[in-house]
Amino acid sequence: MAIIRFSALETVNHRKPVEVVPPAKSITDYFGKNVFDDVKMQNYLSRDAYDHVKRAISRGTPIDRKMADTVAIGMKAWAVELGATHYTHWFQPLTGGTAEKHDSFLEYTDNGSVVESFSGKALAQQEPDASSFPSGGLRNTFEARGYTAWDPSSPAFVIGDTLSIPTIFISYTGEALDHKTPLLRALNAIDRAATEVCQYFDKNVGSVRANLGWEQEFFLVDEALYYARPDLALTGRTLMGHASAKDQQLDDHYFGSIPERVSAFMKELEFESLKLGIPIKTRHNEVAPNQYEVAPIFSECNLAVDQNVLTMELMKRISRHHGFRVLFHEKPFKDINGSGKHNNWSLSTDTGVILHSPGKNPKSNLQFLTFIVNTIKAVYDHQDLLRASILTATNQHRLGANEAPPAILSCFLGAEVSKMLDQIEEQVTNRKMTPDEKTELKLDIGKIPEILLDNTDRNRTSPFAFTGNRFEFRAVGGSANSATPMAVLNAAVAAQLTEFSKSVEKLIAKGVKKDEAIFQVLRELIIASKPIRFEGDNYSEDWVREAKKRGLTNITDIPEAISAFLSESAKKLFKSIGVLGEHELEARVEVMYENYIMKIQIEARVLGDLAINHIVPTAVKYQNVLMENVTMLKELYGDEYGQLSGKRVELIREISDRVTQIKNLVNEMVEARKAANKITPAEKRAKAYSANVFSYLEKIRYHIDKLELIVDDEMWPLPKYRELLFSN
Ligand code: ADP
Ligand code: MG
Repeated sequence: MAIIRFSALETVNHRKPVEVVPPAKSITDYFGKNVFDDVKMQNYLSRDAYDHVKRAISRGTPIDRKMADTVAIGMKAWAVELGATHYTHWFQPLTGGTAEKHDSFLEYTDNGSVVESFSGKALAQQEPDASSFPSGGLRNTFEARGYTAWDPSSPAFVIGDTLSIPTIFISYTGEALDHKTPLLRALNAIDRAATEVCQYFDKNVGSVRANLGWEQEFFLVDEALYYARPDLALTGRTLMGHASAKDQQLDDHYFGSIPERVSAFMKELEFESLKLGIPIKTRHNEVAPNQYEVAPIFSECNLAVDQNVLTMELMKRISRHHGFRVLFHEKPFKDINGSGKHNNWSLSTDTGVILHSPGKNPKSNLQFLTFIVNTIKAVYDHQDLLRASILTATNQHRLGANEAPPAILSCFLGAEVSKMLDQIEEQVTNRKMTPDEKTELKLDIGKIPEILLDNTDRNRTSPFAFTGNRFEFRAVGGSANSATPMAVLNAAVAAQLTEFSKSVEKLIAKGVKKDEAIFQVLRELIIASKPIRFEGDNYSEDWVREAKKRGLTNITDIPEAISAFLSESAKKLFKSIGVLGEHELEARVEVMYENYIMKIQIEARVLGDLAINHIVPTAVKYQNVLMENVTMLKELYGDEYGQLSGKRVELIREISDRVTQIKNLVNEMVEARKAANKITPAEKRAKAYSANVFSYLEKIRYHIDKLELIVDDEMWPLPKYRELLFSN
């Protein structure tokens, strides 16, 4: 057994970094080279077709068949020049990851010869055999019909020999079967709602877009070691492993110099990303050993989500070129920092204003405060839904652990903005304000410094922190598709902004002046959402108690958290905003429960197998060595031995105890699983998995990790934490 480990380590030590040298040109020479972006569209499309697509992107107008034909011809011409022979509709089913089915451009002509062709129909719509994608019962398998439909707001791109067209994936009857569809609907809603609110401050605003800047954390593990750990390979995390004597105590990895082999990986990743128009800007070592982060410059939310998904796919592929496997799991190693995907989110106008950024004068600052306050109120009202959007079987190991925000939602604002909200709360009243009071308030508002970045980026414990010109939703998991949390957040804020406009209009109708009406409504919202504001340490025990007093929810059980999607308020929100109908919502939740069940089921099986086939036999073998040793000592020293033997016999007994415990626990776990599997519906089954199966993973692991400390290192069948974490 030891042979596997040492040969694995040899592979590690002997592997040289593969250098990928980007052409000696500046980034601008290859940035976006493989994307059918605005410039390419202008070059390859007729003026008419170009305008048509632009209108479709900005206003959501349909693209007719004839126009689609024209666009397809231009797009194909461009792709073929890059060496494309195939095309695919690229979509994000609820499995996680992406799906694609490649077709070549090959077509017969009427006279029987072959040509390369790409029609508007092939561009606009496809009907993949979708029966194997999860639909939560929306699509009967015998029908197996699902459509992919072109999303012109995310540009097509070429990877290898294939032209990829970003698409949505919907059922025959138009219900969402993917991550992208609800996001697009939510983005549409926030555009409408926010543009309406902007009219109070600037009549020139024609549209508002949501921005997303994601920060992707991940681990790189040596390929050979990865393969020697079936738990990592099958579940994405280690189900056992005693802490390494040294891990992250010294904080010596964070921002440390990037190892050569990792650096070569990063370079290739950046080169490939930049060619695809993904503006990767930042790379650094993270807190845990072998943990890293990359982040692009933020962009429009839908595009940013696609780019994140694409980057993750690139990372999976490119890591192999360098003898690594990339881990996106939120907690691959126990007691060591896990990986999140901070979602930096803001709204901005087509006039170039970031609405979550302070302005230059009282008026623009009032607009800024309006968007801040409405955002907080939305988070407060929909805290359960936001949690449900990020809490998964994998992210549960990270939330509440020391480096990640807890499962209690709260907003951090920083001293400056908090002070301003307190002032509005105190100074504004429901009666008419005197001119002096108004002037004073406006003066105060005018004082908000334009750049708050430096003094607001400090609270790293907050799950939803204001960081100067955006909110940072930090609770999102490393392996997640950001589309779901972003759909929920944008939908919640859109609904709140609509309420805000209604309330202001009501006051205006009563004869209250516009500014004063805005102040009065803001004050109400500030008071109502106060419990969600928290500036302190989110990791402290005090906060858990305080949050409870404030009536904030703290749900760590996954099935229970998921059920928030089916609450009356969630149904109302999604319906009113047009994000998901009740039927779609139910189907989606069904998929979430199933996903949870399968994840725990797989982990339980893998752990059971490893415990019985790897760990128990190894422990018994070592125990035999010890027993032989004791027997021989007895032979040699006779009665005298009795006094010497205590420790060794204790060890033999401990191994026996632990092996028995492991066997019993594995048996119990199997029984618990069997019982749970019989339960319907999925919601109840998921709850049974959470209540009766999940805890065995930790209980079994406890004994295995103790054995790891006792058993001869040479016999231990799996690479240990110190090897997995310090091999780069
Ligand atoms: P930090 O680690 O300090 O939070 P990073 O530079 O790693 O910061 O990542 C910040 C991310 O936030 C980047 O993707 C950046 O482009 C993005 N970002 C900056 N300003 C905004 C904004 N107004 N809206 C959305 N994202 C933003
Ligand atoms: Mg950040």
